[in-house]
Amino acid sequence: MASNVQSLHPRSLRHLHHSLQHLVAGRLWVKVLLALVAGLATGVLLGPSVGWVATDTATVIGAWLALPGQVFLALVQMIVMPLVIASIIRGLAASESREQLARLGTRVSAYYVFTTLMAVSIGIAVFSLVQPSVELGTDALRSLEISVDDLAIQPAAAPTAAELPGRIAGLLPTNPLGSMAEGQMLHVVLWAIITGIAILMLPAEQAKPLLSLMGSIQAVSMTIVRWAMWLAPLAVFGLMAKLAMTLGMDVLASMGHYVFTVVLGLALLLAVYMAILRLAGGMEPRRFLRAARENLLLAFSTSSSAAVMPLTVKTAGSLGVRSSIAQFTIPMGTTINMDGTALYQVIAVFFLAASFGVDLAWQDVLLVMVMVLGASIGSPGTPGVGIAILAMTLESVGIPAAGIALILGVDRILDMSRTMCNVTGDLVAAVVMDRWVGGSRGHIDEAVEEQQLDAQRARTGEDVIVHPASGHSSS
Ligand code: ASP
Repeated sequence: MASNVQSLHPRSLRHLHHSLQHLVAGRLWVKVLLALVAGLATGVLLGPSVGWVATDTATVIGAWLALPGQVFLALVQMIVMPLVIASIIRGLAASESREQLARLGTRVSAYYVFTTLMAVSIGIAVFSLVQPSVELGTDALRSLEISVDDLAIQPAAAPTAAELPGRIAGLLPTNPLGSMAEGQMLHVVLWAIITGIAILMLPAEQAKPLLSLMGSIQAVSMTIVRWAMWLAPLAVFGLMAKLAMTLGMDVLASMGHYVFTVVLGLALLLAVYMAILRLAGGMEPRRFLRAARENLLLAFSTSSSAAVMPLTVKTAGSLGVRSSIAQFTIPMGTTINMDGTALYQVIAVFFLAASFGVDLAWQDVLLVMVMVLGASIGSPGTPGVGIAILAMTLESVGIPAAGIALILGVDRILDMSRTMCNVTGDLVAAVVMDRWVGGSRGHIDEAVEEQQLDAQRARTGEDVIVHPASGHSSS
């Protein structure tokens, strides 16, 4: 049995997260926050409220200011698929044994569902408390000139009861490449899990080349993330400027109530996480926050839990979580555990229902809860995904999906905040699982790691991430 077990040393992850670490040292998040404020101010000055420039000129300026932001989002989105596949496969192969994997798999899945339902309940409670809504004329919506088509992901129709069994069977991809091409994240995650478990069954010799390949894919993905990060402050500046120019001060101010409600909900969720950490994980929140602070700020800056995933695995390691647990729970959590997103979606649905005057019966509320749970499981951790998926939920309870245009404007800041919660949720899960799932530390396949590191050092010098494309591995 032991000979079949492939475990991976965190050393490769050290290299992967290295590129992100220097961004943290460069206080990227401070630059992002400054860019956020400067962007909003610029947008207001150039926008219709102040009227310094003619509307046509402002539109052109807004489009160009938003360009770095669009490039940034595209760079982050393009690496998510390969990064998630490689991380899940390597994460599974890092298991100490099949028994540990089975135990961990069932417990962490149950835990993820539990925390997502908890986040949804917090969302409902906070909404009922604050009850945000705006007075909506259709003119207001039209003036936003943002449509659902602007969203990166198109919504799918909600299944009827008769379609459900077919949908469940359809979770397994028959054509994995097709699923990748279509961006069907849940298909891809399930395919990666099945492949990872199959690799775990192979003799070590046979598994090595594939695992090395996955390691290289992770390194390449992280290099691209690093390039994207250079753009992050400029991206946030431009997107915020365009936002303020398009919406104008009045609409922004009227959305303040909604933004406050989501942020309050996320803050409560963080507090509950800290309680779980203490009670179930046996860890002091202060220790957790000290170790995870930079990771969380980077998640905030990037709005992508997938982009910071390698750093999250490293943070879990520095919190004392075994590598075999962290390498499995974090990549899984990045895609299937998005509590911040679930909480945000519930508040967004209720807010739009209130604004559009749609009364939700208790069955509708239940349906929203189920759909939000499904959306949090099936969507990838990339910027703006939470709002894109929302369209499906809205239509299922009779709220016009075009209402998304209203909340799209202020979504960037909420995306940043909920991403930080999503990553916190994954880290807390790793700490709790480390306590709940027994087993000894894994065997480390030093040969694979050394081979990879040597090859990377040979072609890149000290920093493997700086010039990764300059040659081919000699291994
Ligand atoms: N940006 C979020 C994440 O990466 C997903 C979302 O849009 O809610 O975790």
